[in-house]
Amino acid sequence: MAVLEIKKIPEKVLRSRAEEIKSINGEIASLAQDMLETMYDAPGIGLAAPQVGKPIRLIVFDIWHPEDEPNPHVLINPVITAKEGLDVMEEGCLSVPGVRAEVKRSYRVEVKGYDLNEKEVVLEAEGLLARVLQHEIDHLDGVLFIDRLSRVKRELIKKRLRRMR
Ligand SMILES: [Zn+2]
Repeated sequence: MAVLEIKKIPEKVLRSRAEEIKSINGEIASLAQDMLETMYDAPGIGLAAPQVGKPIRLIVFDIWHPEDEPNPHVLINPVITAKEGLDVMEEGCLSVPGVRAEVKRSYRVEVKGYDLNEKEVVLEAEGLLARVLQHEIDHLDGVLFIDRLSRVKRELIKKRLRRMR
């Protein structure tokens, strides 16, 4: 296991559409383990493969609290199959350091994907978990949370990011 380097904007890999995973093999399993370790180390509650430089459709997440036992999840080729409601919550991203902003997303989602045993998984999530899933699946399409802000807010953040760089 290893803690991987987290790619930050403006790295190109964060802006590309990630490839479907065709075979769930040992390489994928060990990448998932490394991604979980990287996520807990950061610390974060979700991580998508493009964030560690791998343009493939793999996400890990755990909406943990420091006092809880870890409850790690791995999802391969995840797809949102239903969404419902609206919710606004503040978000940040390990790949966009120093920025937090309120983002509008669906309150409830159904997500289908596969686990490391090639078993199909259907997740029904709401609230924070639904948000994490939408945020991470966005990463697989090269979309960052700052893209989902109003134009005015996005411009402000862009200016701030340019100054930080
Ligand atoms: Zn992110």
